[in-house]
Amino acid sequence: MTVSTRLATRLAAFAAATLAAGVLGATAAEATPAPARTADLRLISFNDLHGNLTPPAGSSGRVTLPDGTAVDAGGAAYLATHAKRLRGEVKNSLLLTTGDNIGASPLNSALFHDEPTVAFLNLIGVQANVVGNHEFDEGYRELLRMQFGGCHPTDGCQFRPTFTGSKFPYLGANVTFDNGFPALLPFTVKSVEGVPVAIIGVTLEDLPSLVVPSGVEGLRFGDEVQALNSTSKLLDKVGVKTQVVLMHQGDNTEAGSGPDDCRTLPGPARAIATAASPSLDVFFTGHSHQQYNCVVTDPAGKPRTLIQGASFGRLLSVVDLKIDKRTKDVVRTATVAHNEIVTRTVAPDPAAQALVEEATTKSAPIANRQIGTITADLVRAAAPSGEIPLGDVIADAQLVATSGNNAVIAMTNPGGIRTDLTYASSPAGEGDGVVTYGEAFAVQPFANIMQTITLSGAQLKAVLEQQWQPRPDGTVVTRFLQVSDSLHYTWSQSGTQGNRVSAITVAGVPVDPAAPYRVSVNNFLAAGGDGFTELVNGTDLVGGPIDLDALAAYLSANPGIAPPAPTRVTVVP
Ligand SMILES: [Zn+2]
Repeated sequence: MTVSTRLATRLAAFAAATLAAGVLGATAAEATPAPARTADLRLISFNDLHGNLTPPAGSSGRVTLPDGTAVDAGGAAYLATHAKRLRGEVKNSLLLTTGDNIGASPLNSALFHDEPTVAFLNLIGVQANVVGNHEFDEGYRELLRMQFGGCHPTDGCQFRPTFTGSKFPYLGANVTFDNGFPALLPFTVKSVEGVPVAIIGVTLEDLPSLVVPSGVEGLRFGDEVQALNSTSKLLDKVGVKTQVVLMHQGDNTEAGSGPDDCRTLPGPARAIATAASPSLDVFFTGHSHQQYNCVVTDPAGKPRTLIQGASFGRLLSVVDLKIDKRTKDVVRTATVAHNEIVTRTVAPDPAAQALVEEATTKSAPIANRQIGTITADLVRAAAPSGEIPLGDVIADAQLVATSGNNAVIAMTNPGGIRTDLTYASSPAGEGDGVVTYGEAFAVQPFANIMQTITLSGAQLKAVLEQQWQPRPDGTVVTRFLQVSDSLHYTWSQSGTQGNRVSAITVAGVPVDPAAPYRVSVNNFLAAGGDGFTELVNGTDLVGGPIDLDALAAYLSANPGIAPPAPTRVTVVP
């Protein structure tokens, strides 16, 4: 059996079981007299947890209120307490998540391939999740391990003696194999007072641009609206009228929006929620890490909720549905929704707290694992040309890590390099020159995703010219990109805006303004971050690994790295 047919069999059994639970449950309930004509169902969801078991620090651990003040929020043990309370207030509830629960996570989860986070999600009773892009960070096979369990093929079971996987399905109605077979379960069905309730998952269609190509090889990510409509139609036909959408796609909001504002900017989530089948009753969204609580109009003119709860477990999106037991459908006008702040003023849940402490304690020795060696400090201090020794090494690592994308240049932003790599022993006690995983993590903690784009030689020059950014007051801010050793150029201190850079070479050959060059940058830069708007004009975008993984792999493959001499960029008067 191939992976796809074996999985299709497994998924079919899973689907039959959930459908039986929902639909047959409904039939049984119909036989008994039901006094109440409606059933109340509370849906609770969170998105983009990213393994934040420990309360996130800084602005990542705060929620801004409509009055502009901020409160501390997030942390697995507090989330567990709030979820338990919200469920305790009602007769019927479902606990759901909308993706990126794992991946790009802090050390105490990341070191164990996010097994502690899965243990947490199981502990609090999550009942369904849609896959986000980060669920594919380590590839589809690892995602299947997250679902079905088993020890990691190379690292084994490091967190606990066994890993049994997730007690909830990873949904993805628009995720198929090349042959069209489902690669993930499209939906799951729960029974609520005899009424079947479908939870449908769709993830963003452009997911392949956010992951390593090898991780999603053989998979297709289809149009979200099409997948929702065909799944919804199937459910309608078998009598499942209450349909909840978990969507890993989201919109952005205006600065300063509160948790329950709907100050969203036009984006993909609203477009999908407005266009998709009127049978769908509510949209939980994610991916953009924004907070909003909106009501959109479906194609039949009826209202439906579109909601997202920031990120990192700071908010719980709560949607209270009223279901007509006769039609088995949602009374849309009676839907009440809000985002509940996961405050830290409540008592932490003891079981969740113990799990977080276990992960933190067990992660310390693994964080101290040696991944490479250096011969001297690799610092963030820049040469007069703008070149940074650690930036050189990181750019070289990113070029190697994206060679499969045919990259010939890698460039990175110094803002993404958070600390020096020092030669001397750290307080953790490792020997001189040793680089540990924990130290590399401290340098690149943001889990930016590498992407490779095609730029013409002229566009490459335009990007380099954007390192000087004029301000309205006449001053110029410089942001020097750190470049791989394959790229050399000269800049002039007396040059004018747009005319400072010259003598650009790639692999020693002068750049042809009309020729194409494959260039790797992180997703922050590819989106035009730090003022590098020219990078948005790149074409043929292909995803790559997380930046930290690229650095760690390079350090492992190249022991004894010395600080590179600043010879890539030359500055002249
Ligand atoms: Zn995402």
